Amino acid sequence: VIKCRAAVAWAPGKPLSVEDVEVAPPKAGEVRIKIVATGICHSDDHVLKGSLPNVEFPVIPGHEGAGIVESIGEGVTSVKPGDKVIPLCLPHCGECNFCRNPDSNFCQKSHISEPQNLLPDKTSRLTCKRKQIHHFLWVSTFAEYTVVPEYAVAKIDAAAPLDKVCLFGCGFSTGYGAAINTAKVKPGSTCAVFGLGGVGLSAVMGCKAARAARIIAVDINKDKSAKAKELGATDCINPRDFKKPIQEVITEMTGQGVDYSFEAIGHADTMIAALASCNMNTGVSVMIGVTDSEISFDPTLLLTGRTWKGTLFGGWRSRECIPKLVSSYLEKKFNLDLLITHTLPFAKVNEGFELLRAGK
Ligand code: NAD
Ligand code: ZN
Repeated sequence: VIKCRAAVAWAPGKPLSVEDVEVAPPKAGEVRIKIVATGICHSDDHVLKGSLPNVEFPVIPGHEGAGIVESIGEGVTSVKPGDKVIPLCLPHCGECNFCRNPDSNFCQKSHISEPQNLLPDKTSRLTCKRKQIHHFLWVSTFAEYTVVPEYAVAKIDAAAPLDKVCLFGCGFSTGYGAAINTAKVKPGSTCAVFGLGGVGLSAVMGCKAARAARIIAVDINKDKSAKAKELGATDCINPRDFKKPIQEVITEMTGQGVDYSFEAIGHADTMIAALASCNMNTGVSVMIGVTDSEISFDPTLLLTGRTWKGTLFGGWRSRECIPKLVSSYLEKKFNLDLLITHTLPFAKVNEGFELLRAGK
């Protein structure tokens, strides 16, 4: 058993509390990882607020990490102690019907099919103050050590800087893949990205990599424009600068609406606005943001031919694709480093959340 620090969420609506925890050794088919760095994704904030379904408290959140394998359980063959890895919040068991379909990246062992608050044998490896603590999406990266099933780990290049590539664990992969895999953005097309956090900025990078001709970036925080432009946005607009709805503004800017739109915020109204911003005939709108509210919308929006899609983890088949994406980063195919705004010591994790909520 390893004693280390972890950030525990004891109950919804409370800040994280950095505690001494015990992390039990990996059982058969499991891997214990020393987490070196972790990003903060808005989905972790949904957890703290209690608005992400299927999460059980007390829990150690965090799902955008990178680390080094410390030990392996019986039968584990794909990683060994000392390997650099990314724990995968979307596993890839390789055996379920969805994993066997080459067009799908949604493994049936994922959180949305079955809660991942306990490891597959329905027990926890995490204890604090003699209480069992729940895992989060199996990965719980807000801990110095964590235990995950082997099929939720991707081995990456030994040269990868862990304090940067942790972003492949969620934000970057999700936004970039939403453009490349889910929308399949075509060269010369027009795109609109709603929300310019880590996920939306990565979608901008994906549209740019797919050689979109015009990328309209939409955010109510004007401070996000400079970075969006640096990453490839051609126009930055703030819905608060206009009297009319933003979908009308975008439709006027482009004639018929964009070819592809992305919602990376997580509000029902911006999901509808993103849908209505794309071309009524051939437009594709990809929903990335997470919300627990229901949506009502005018079905005519779809009747004329628009496509409305969702994406989980940017459509990547996680175990196969994340190592390749990390290698592309090492070959300087995209500049992930520009997404990193602050680097804090672990003890300041709550300060990290304050920066996220303040739009910084
Ligand atoms: P973030 O908080 O860093 O960014 C959100 C951005 O949206 C901010 O810049 C904010 O100013 C902007 N915004 C808020 N309200 C707006 C409005 N009405 N109009 C325009 N812009 C507005 O969040 P993030 O970490 O980038 O995550 C974005 C969303 O994606 C979250 O809902 C998160 O849960 C979700 N997410 C989904 C997946 C997936 O697999 N589908 C993966 C990761 C994150
Ligand atoms: Zn995430």
